Amino acid sequence: MNDADLGASKPVPKPEPTESEIKEWRARNFTVKHSTVVACGHRLEAGHFPKHANCWDCWYAMFETSPDGVASVHDLLMKEGSKAVAAMHGKKFLAAFGKYLRNKLLLQASPEVQAASGLEPTIEGAVLDIGAERMEAKLGLR
Ligand SMILES: [Zn+2]
Repeated sequence: MNDADLGASKPVPKPEPTESEIKEWRARNFTVKHSTVVACGHRLEAGHFPKHANCWDCWYAMFETSPDGVASVHDLLMKEGSKAVAAMHGKKFLAAFGKYLRNKLLLQASPEVQAASGLEPTIEGAVLDIGAERMEAKLGLR
């Protein structure tokens, strides 16, 4: 005689979400935006140094996407020198930043300078070039 009740919608108490369900939901909705570096397929977290510290593509992508950061590091470099940048951000950062700056400068340089400088500058060469740039700035050549 209880057949009539079968189709009725009884309020079913919702099961409490498990911890893993909550975590999954959080991950789906609140994860900081990650972007993938096209050149190497690594993921880059906004506002963080690359996890793959030896991957030039990651560094390049990070510098390209944070012009403000590049400007402030460049400022520090011009005022305090490369040692201050290394002390603050590490030697790997300095090396990558030097290479990035050099690439940028080369893009703006004349074809003759680009040809003379070679395609793959060494780290030492990059740091030396930064020194030269600072010297030029002091001499008012720029
Ligand atoms: Zn990478």
